[in-house]
Amino acid sequence: AQLDTLDLIVLAVLLVSSVAYFTKGTYWGIQKDPYASSYALANGNKAGKTRDILKKMDETGKNCVVFYGSQTGTAEDYASRLSKEGSSRFGLKTMVADLEDYEYENLDTFPEDKVAIFVLATYGEGEPTDNAVEFYEFITGEDPSFSSGSGSDDKPLANLKYVAFGLGNNTYEHYNAIVRRADAALTKLGACRIGKAGEGDDGAGTMEEDFLAWKEPMWTEFAEKMGLEEREAVYEPVFSVTEREDLSPDSGEVYLGEPNKNHLEGTSKGPYNSHNPYIAPIVESREVFTVKDRNCLHMEIDISGSNLTYQTGDHIAVWPTNAGKEVDRFIKALGLADNRHKVISVKGLDPTARVPFPTPTTFDAVVRYHMEICGPVSRQFVSQLAAFAPNDTSKAEMTKLGEDKDYFQEKVSSHYLNIAQLLLRVDPNPWTKIPFPLFIEGVNKIQPRYYSISSSSLVQKKKISITAVVEEIRVPGSENIVKGVTTNYLLALKQKQHGDPHPDPHGLTYAITGPRNKYDGIHVPVHVRHSNFKLPSDPSKPIIMVGPGSGVAPFRGFIQERAAQAKAGEKVGMTVLFYGCRRSSEDFLYKDEWDTYKQSLGDSFALFLAFSRETPGQKIYVQKRLQEQADLVNTLLQQKANFYVCGDAANMAREVNVMLGQIIAEKRGISSEKAESIVKGMRSSNQYQEDVW
Ligand code: FAD
Repeated sequence: AQLDTLDLIVLAVLLVSSVAYFTKGTYWGIQKDPYASSYALANGNKAGKTRDILKKMDETGKNCVVFYGSQTGTAEDYASRLSKEGSSRFGLKTMVADLEDYEYENLDTFPEDKVAIFVLATYGEGEPTDNAVEFYEFITGEDPSFSSGSGSDDKPLANLKYVAFGLGNNTYEHYNAIVRRADAALTKLGACRIGKAGEGDDGAGTMEEDFLAWKEPMWTEFAEKMGLEEREAVYEPVFSVTEREDLSPDSGEVYLGEPNKNHLEGTSKGPYNSHNPYIAPIVESREVFTVKDRNCLHMEIDISGSNLTYQTGDHIAVWPTNAGKEVDRFIKALGLADNRHKVISVKGLDPTARVPFPTPTTFDAVVRYHMEICGPVSRQFVSQLAAFAPNDTSKAEMTKLGEDKDYFQEKVSSHYLNIAQLLLRVDPNPWTKIPFPLFIEGVNKIQPRYYSISSSSLVQKKKISITAVVEEIRVPGSENIVKGVTTNYLLALKQKQHGDPHPDPHGLTYAITGPRNKYDGIHVPVHVRHSNFKLPSDPSKPIIMVGPGSGVAPFRGFIQERAAQAKAGEKVGMTVLFYGCRRSSEDFLYKDEWDTYKQSLGDSFALFLAFSRETPGQKIYVQKRLQEQADLVNTLLQQKANFYVCGDAANMAREVNVMLGQIIAEKRGISSEKAESIVKGMRSSNQYQEDVW
């Protein structure tokens, strides 16, 4: 057929636009996701703000940017600490930047006299944090939507000087994988690292000390390379706090804990995500343990009024509120009791400083809704506070705590003290000299906590179940009792819902009805996080699940789903659950439900139970049951069963991994090395999936 002129023009236009489309984002041999910036915009980046980091640094006169890839706030906190330290000790012009807020394609023009610092947490199974996905895929060339081509210049980042610190957990398979891979990629692209690539280990509980030990030699090398002189560190606030005499807490524009403007104005709308929670009704709550001193909550959260969706295996994030007792203690330690409801405006003194909560607000609201006041205290922060102690004795004590690692361990860490407890122990008088901005900088932003959804989206599309064990730690050798922030808040919500006459024995109370009573009628702020922890799309495939304790949560959802599929006449493959707890009479979760599922699934459901405290002298864990069922496990794996582990990352998940290797070695008559590599292969092909914490 002949093409007429119009056809040719149309074809030419199509060709040009598709070339433009496919080359958009191709820079120095690394490929970039063309959807990335729209994704970031949808995720809270304000339209109109520049995504060009070099331009931003130029406009604001910065010579050092500290990027963070953070999931739970620790990496973000370390980034802001490095930024402050660079400024106060070396006079650097620093800024902190969320990796999700910028593009990276012009890093090849990063000036030689500037430095980029990367603080990168590794999340889940060796994954980047949500806000670092784009950067990570870009820099490592792993963006799956494009093939990685090789550019003309193989050292495009030769001008870039950088510093790297990773946050990881050695109990996970891919320890600090993200910082290691990002560092290797940067080096390969010609960038020059200053100091060692640091690694902090949450698994060993040494994160803070690893960070402190890493940063000193790094700063020495940094100063040497960049020709900087260290000076006497001076505190320069990043934020200003101004009292607003013109406003009262009743003024409509004052945030009393509302997470953003729409919530303040009562016009909250989706999309609901990690920047914008949905205030969801809790439609049902009950306890699933039968013992008095331990609690496990089952809750049903209704998402039908939102546009939220979930899939079986996803996580729900709960936005907590601090306990009244802890808010009071913090307010007292700072001497703010008389001013707690005064209205304040908080502003960044530097154009790159972000106030971590909306203002105008009140001291009470900031402390109650936005600060992680109960968490572990950083030794570096204690050093900073020393200068503002009420008198010389307390100043000397704070200085010693800040400098002496062992002393700090003995006096603070081993008792799990929070910041207000520490201050009041050092000196029970109010610490009125500490500028409030220092707390905004030094105390982490409160983090939503994740829960593995324990229902099936096929069975209850608009209702999300959670299964949460209430945290209460009696610290050995100390009179202190640590109460988990979120789970005790959820417990209080459950008690309120049931008109429970027995409030917490340790006097915890909560602002249950939320800011301006907006959470009244038992509501909780939530968002959903989609996960890769998923059932096989073909239900006839067998599955093996190992989930002791609250690790059973997602498997209740999995089994609920397969039981519904079986009931609907679908062919459902073998469904095996290994569950463990202390005693069948105390903490056996969903004890009566399993029979119901069995009725639908029949012989294709098998439940193996391990009770660790039932028989004196015999501590039986799920690993033992796995070993006993080696034949079944091996046969199902050879039939391509998916293998899932959920729950305790520190011990259980690792031991299950080892046990699986042993089973495969024994049953297939192969060496343990060969078996281990089979298990590794199962992990990389997603046949072996973990949801651990
Ligand atoms: P927090 O206040 O966060 O305290 C937690 C721990 O931090 C304490 O136990 C203590 O060890 C330490 N700590 C706190 N304060 C201090 C201090 N001052 N000094 C020293 N140490 C301190 N949990 C479930 O029950 N069910 C689930 O289905 C579930 N799914 C999860 C899925 C994912 C992906 C993840 C990441 C976690 C999941 N968790 C689940 C755990 C959950 O997110 C919370 O971590 C848990 O409920 C505790 O939260 P909390 O706010 O009550 O305790």
